[in-house]
Amino acid sequence: MAPVEQPETEQPSATYDGSCHCGAIAFKATLSPPIEQQKLTQCNCSICYRNGYHLVFTPDENVEWTKGGEDAMTKYSFNKQRIVHHFCPTCGTSLLARSVDPNFFPGFVGVNARSFDGVDVNTLEKRIIDGKAL
Ligand SMILES: [Zn+2]
Repeated sequence: MAPVEQPETEQPSATYDGSCHCGAIAFKATLSPPIEQQKLTQCNCSICYRNGYHLVFTPDENVEWTKGGEDAMTKYSFNKQRIVHHFCPTCGTSLLARSVDPNFFPGFVGVNARSFDGVDVNTLEKRIIDGKAL
């Protein structure tokens, strides 16, 4: 399904349907601005690199679970335990990363844009961040 444009607000936004591969977990994520106007974050740290994340960031309240939900996912964190990665226990799709450090993007979630329907991450702009050095 193609992204649905929201009614006009101060900042343009769009809502995307996302899911894991097996469909056990599904959600809607609203991004402002729409994804075409953002740069997807690719990070070179040990886990983002392995997972192939193309992350977009949005406030927690902009993610609405329509199937499964956070409790249905397996969580993984490592090293400083600052970021919790969430993936489907059945198909292994990594859907999101959330900081649990109040000094590191509190209230925001990094969503893997690879899980969005109707979005081709290969056609979108990227920004590479040096997470390895953080
Ligand atoms: Zn799954």
